[in-house]
Amino acid sequence: MKIGILSRNANLYSTRRLIEASEARGHEVKVIDALRCYMNINSEKPQIHFQGEELSDFDAIIPRIGASVTFYGTAVLRQFEMMGVYPVNESVAITRSRDKLRSMQLLSRKGVGMPITGFASKPGDTKDLLHMVGGAPVVIKLLEGTQGIGVVLAETQKAAESVIEAFMGLKANIMVQEFIKEAGGADIRCFVIGDKVIAAMKRQGAEGEFRSNLHRGGSASLVKISPQERRTAIAASKIMGLNVAGVDLLRSERGPLVMEVNSSPGLEGIETATGKDVAGMIVEFIEKNAASKRTKTRGQG
Ligand code: ADP
Repeated sequence: MKIGILSRNANLYSTRRLIEASEARGHEVKVIDALRCYMNINSEKPQIHFQGEELSDFDAIIPRIGASVTFYGTAVLRQFEMMGVYPVNESVAITRSRDKLRSMQLLSRKGVGMPITGFASKPGDTKDLLHMVGGAPVVIKLLEGTQGIGVVLAETQKAAESVIEAFMGLKANIMVQEFIKEAGGADIRCFVIGDKVIAAMKRQGAEGEFRSNLHRGGSASLVKISPQERRTAIAASKIMGLNVAGVDLLRSERGPLVMEVNSSPGLEGIETATGKDVAGMIVEFIEKNAASKRTKTRGQG
């Protein structure tokens, strides 16, 4: 097969591993920087060009679209879909999962467990917003944050009010969430491919840190997940419409709670912690599913 990897950098661990895994299984592979693609949008023959060359005959695309290039990256992916190329994750599903508010609304509608969460832009009544989510301690998050930046634990009512007011001053959209103390500064990353959790790891925050992000000094280890955690992770990725997803769970007294569903989950942490060939499993999934050359939406929606 001819596989394209939509990635800005061929040297990133995940991209490198996907190239290796594709080649090891006898496929032709090309790394495509979406930002450098230009497109001809027409109803007869949609086209994509890259460095003076037409990109054609691809059987499948593996999108590895960074958060900062979601808009253009998903447009290029949509164009591939219109050309009948199989996307590992569809553009609509990526767009859906990138929007934290929309994702949480969809998950809650389908009854998936999640921390009690409030959203706000310019709350006229901070006290009432806090009351609505059960009061302090709460975790306050900037909607646009990643890698744990802009995630604050406010232990008292007063601290929570000042942080919310400070964030409001920045004109940022915020999320105010029940603090899951019993998670103990750890979360569980479930790596989903198709309808299976193929690998899972526990990320534990550094001593005295409630955030488990590896970028914040957390460490990862292999973990055995419960059947309920497995079901929750699969349900969450299905609701998002993702074939490949990293579902982050918090272990709470009332069962697993979904924090986030990631559409371009990194491979380095999970492969290192579990010793599994996750890249190989993604390519295997493509081999099984791309043959029909059919996508669900062909770029619609
Ligand atoms: P980011 O997307 O920036 O990584 P997250 O929302 O994943 O931000 O939060 C970072 C980390 O903080 C999580 O991995 C988790 O360990 C911790 N955390 C986030 N929300 C909560 C919460 N409501 N209760 C307990 N811990 C939390």
